[in-house]
Amino acid sequence: MNEEKFLPFALPEIGEEEIQEVVASLRSGWVTTGPRTRQFEQDFAAFLGGGVESIAVNSATAGLHLALEAIGIGPGDEVILPSYTFTATAEVVRYLGAIPVMVDVLDHTFNIDPLAVEAAITPRTRAIMPVHFAGLSCDMDALLAIARRHGLKVVEDAAHALPTTWAGRKIGTLETDVTVFSFYANKTMTTGEGGMVVTRNPEIAKRCRVMRLHGISRDAFDRYVSKSPAWFYEVIAPGYKYNMTDMAAAMGIHQLRRLDGFQLKREAMARVYDKALLDLPVILPAGAPTGDLHARHLYPVRLLPEAGISRDEFIVKMSEQGIGCSVHFIPLHLHPYWRDSCDLVPEMFPVAQRLFEQEVSIPLYTRMSDADQHRVIVAIRQVLANV
Ligand SMILES: *Cc1c(COP(=O)(O)O)cnc(C)c1O
Repeated sequence: MNEEKFLPFALPEIGEEEIQEVVASLRSGWVTTGPRTRQFEQDFAAFLGGGVESIAVNSATAGLHLALEAIGIGPGDEVILPSYTFTATAEVVRYLGAIPVMVDVLDHTFNIDPLAVEAAITPRTRAIMPVHFAGLSCDMDALLAIARRHGLKVVEDAAHALPTTWAGRKIGTLETDVTVFSFYANKTMTTGEGGMVVTRNPEIAKRCRVMRLHGISRDAFDRYVSKSPAWFYEVIAPGYKYNMTDMAAAMGIHQLRRLDGFQLKREAMARVYDKALLDLPVILPAGAPTGDLHARHLYPVRLLPEAGISRDEFIVKMSEQGIGCSVHFIPLHLHPYWRDSCDLVPEMFPVAQRLFEQEVSIPLYTRMSDADQHRVIVAIRQVLANV
């Protein structure tokens, strides 16, 4: 075992500003959705630009559920998504009684294969849910063209893609119906738990706002600042309890201000890995097209057969060297629930299956020092040299 302290796979970077703002929120008495949530939503919309509205929620999963509800997904509808994703992308389809249709991904980018999407379309298909894996944009031109051709909605699972651009435009501002970001603890910015629904469609925004809080026509802050009696509200639908707290938004306000700096550091670290691991029997992750941003949420490495070590063994050896690694993702078709309820077999997803067997995510986060990153590189070289 390495003498140095164990380097975890991921850690959030929380500064003194975040801490002070959370304390100020506690002292103010506004701990649920209030002025800080309102400010965070406005700041987030301004950060993305393009005239979008932002609706803060308590997770990206909640946001994806609201998004699909707002675009009218219901029982029997089919929604196409990649097998190579986190279960949240698919579970929200089930919440609405709809059918998730899993398709394969592209070898180079891990992102949904537009040809596979087109082949999966039936008369019951209503929407496509692209996932920008690791923070690299899907081919949005191809996906939007397919959506237009077949009259489908597009809801982006942008849990990894903040900030990411496609053809120079930020994810969240493209011609899709809704985009959802995650502020989970290990994402590119965090509010502990949290998410943001982003749309330019005022009807969708309004529906998400109402459904995020019990289907009530006005939230607590509206009622607090409004002229009409604070006690009065109307329930117009059986909504959910998905609102963000002001303590979470307090963190988000300051994390957002540091986001561009976080991205620069993540990109610089990715380039250090790109150089240091180039000669090894691995496939390194794709970078963004020239001029575009990759959020670099993950650094997914693929171990080639020539490496002579299985992915599982590699992770054990790295752990013995004091380095935490992870796997993104165990594809949906291998999980018992999805496999059995959707009749999925690995042969339907040859690319996702191979990627899964080879993939290991190595640590990449802003709290890592140059020395930490050097340790990871040395450990990888040692593990691969000793097989
Ligand atoms: C993290 C993640 C989610 C869920 O985000 P939460 O904020 O934890 O609900 C959804 N999709 C993908 C691809 C993710 O990685």
